[in-house]
Amino acid sequence: MFETELSRSFEREYGSSPLLIASAPGRVNLIGEHTDYNDGFVFPAAIDRRISIAVSRRSDKRVRAFSLDFSQRDEFSLDRIERSEAVGWSNYIRGVIVQFQKAGLEVPGMDLVMSGDVPIGSGLSSSAALEVAMSETIRALTGIELDKVRMALMSQAAEREFVGVQCGIMDQFVSTLAEEGTALFVDCRDLSFRNIALPAGIKVVVCDSKVQRRLEASEYNRRRSECESAARKLNDELGGIRALRDVTLEQLESHGRMLTDAEFRRARHVVGENERVLAMVEALEEGNSVCIGKLLYRSHESLRDDYEVSCRELDTLVELARNVSSTVGARMTGAGFGGCTVNLVEADGTEEFCAKVGVGYERESGIRGEIYVCEPSAGVSSVRP
Ligand code: ADP
Ligand code: MG
Repeated sequence: MFETELSRSFEREYGSSPLLIASAPGRVNLIGEHTDYNDGFVFPAAIDRRISIAVSRRSDKRVRAFSLDFSQRDEFSLDRIERSEAVGWSNYIRGVIVQFQKAGLEVPGMDLVMSGDVPIGSGLSSSAALEVAMSETIRALTGIELDKVRMALMSQAAEREFVGVQCGIMDQFVSTLAEEGTALFVDCRDLSFRNIALPAGIKVVVCDSKVQRRLEASEYNRRRSECESAARKLNDELGGIRALRDVTLEQLESHGRMLTDAEFRRARHVVGENERVLAMVEALEEGNSVCIGKLLYRSHESLRDDYEVSCRELDTLVELARNVSSTVGARMTGAGFGGCTVNLVEADGTEEFCAKVGVGYERESGIRGEIYVCEPSAGVSSVRP
């Protein structure tokens, strides 16, 4: 359906059919927050909202691109790709092409049309979806061999080096490697991963608080340095600690007096959160929904009280969700200070959930939030229309 529309737009724009359409999903992190930069574990799921790119080959060295969602066109030469100041979205495309060129892979001239339904700037990583879809566009068009982990790493490098956002690997990894009906357990230290089935009949529901992430950058950097100094101090005492990933709760409790109060609580969140991710994998494998719910709520409390990255609106959303009988569990997701909560909700109760949480949130915060009921979906793919 969506592919037909995209093909039609492509034909209108360029006067011929696309050769193929590549697409990649947005994502939500189920559990494992602020663990990635501590060499820890994350556990995201891809959602059924994607960005798609229709493409055909050109015989020269030019790229023409048309974003349906921004109603904006761009054109550039493959010979010398620079940052575009005028067309923001083009930098994601350009950045990916540069990564292929750097790897010595030949990128042909292309005509592109793109569109998607991943909410932009809501914390569901539309940027990673766009990068990964672009990587797949080039891979499928040229037929080069490229394993998915490498594709995710190149997409991440595009965002870090070309767009200039120092993101971790989670978003591009899950957008590339996800499988339908599963979430992706990722060890951020060695990049090993496992797809874990989510219970059938459970929906992943995302509530967007619509609160601006005020303070986010400076507070984020402060948390990172608190974690680093905590790890350094614990390493001086215990040895063998490269990151908080290597610390156990027992070690933290017996050596915590060397840390400042803030360092201790940040570390307690990270150490506990890593344990919760592992426990979540187990709870899912056992189908233990009581345990799944507890882990989500505990993660939220830890982010609120120890890591101090929640805010009133996110706490409100979690409390409202907790009072709906079909909710398995809920917590804030993403860096914090606004953004979204993630909720696991029984499929036949999502309507009740949306009504109660939506109305309750507006009543208590005065803000009209947005609720997305999502299916855990497959990662990157391409089709020939
Ligand atoms: P997010 O949290 O959604 O990843 P970012 O600020 O990291 O937010 O990335 C959003 C940017 O990605 C947009 O400003 C735009 O440049 C690009 N982008 C996202 N979705 C689309 C789309 N459908 N079409 C074109 N560009 C998009
Ligand atoms: Mg992004």
